[in-house]
This record gives sequence, C-alpha cells and structure tokens, in this order.
Amino acid sequence: MIEVSEIYVDVSDVYVLCPHCHERQGYWYEDPKGASTVCDQCENDFSVSAAAELQMEGTNSSTNHSLVEKLQADYAAQGLALKAAKAMQAGETERADRAERALLRAGWTHAAGCAEWKPPLGPSAYPLLEKIDNLMAELELESAIAAVKGGAA
Ligand SMILES: [Zn+2]
Repeated sequence: MIEVSEIYVDVSDVYVLCPHCHERQGYWYEDPKGASTVCDQCENDFSVSAAAELQMEGTNSSTNHSLVEKLQADYAAQGLALKAAKAMQAGETERADRAERALLRAGWTHAAGCAEWKPPLGPSAYPLLEKIDNLMAELELESAIAAVKGGAA
C-alpha cells in the first residue's frame, strides 16, 4: 500500500490526494492521519502517514509557513480538547485534568461543560484561520459524536 504524507486543508474541506490517480479524497470527519482508505475514483487503497503535514492552500509561501504553524498548534489544542472530553466521559479525571491544564495554559477557555472549549479570544490576524478553526472544531465534534454513538472511547 502506498502511503501519502501530506494532508491538505482548505476552508471547505479536509482532503488528501489519491497517490494512484491523484484525485482529491475529501469529507474526512476525523483526523486522516494514520487512516487507511479506498479511493472513490480508482478504488485503489492507500494510507495516510501518521506524520503527514498539513498543507495550506491559497496563500503565498511566506505566509504559508506561519499559517501552517498556527493551524498545527490550534489543531493540536483541539485534539487535546477532544481528549479531555473523552477522558471526562470515561471518568478518567486525572487525564482530563492534565489535558485541561494544557489547554488553559494555551489560552483556551471553556464555558459550561467540556464540549464548550473555545480557542484564545482576541482579534485574529488571520480571518481565514478562524474559518478553518471553525471547520476543524466541527470535524472534531463530528468525530466525538461518532465515537460516543459508536460506543468507542
Ligand atoms: Zn485514486
């Protein structure tokens, strides 16, 4: 199986390119990293590297680097939020507390309950990133809901 090592993110979709036919494979409702899938177009299978890097489209190369860095930091923070939520659901308070402290240090806040984590407040230098953040939060929420419905921890 050929492994791809780049995950592309734009404001409307998270996608990877099939390494066989190079068609876009989108609509991921979970982090594609480490996933295996079958191409919708050519029906060949491939996997996504667990170390795949996020690629930002529609930006020039000088802003691209900082955009990707910020997105990766936010994405990691949202991953932490999801872990905290899952740990709380599983009653693992020590792990939940640790994840919560990490988020608070990163400037995240939460209102009522673990599902309400919000990124650091303040005007964003990158309005595009807010759209991406919202999308990523939706994706995390979708996968959290799917995990709960599926009974998986
Ligand atoms: Zn394909």
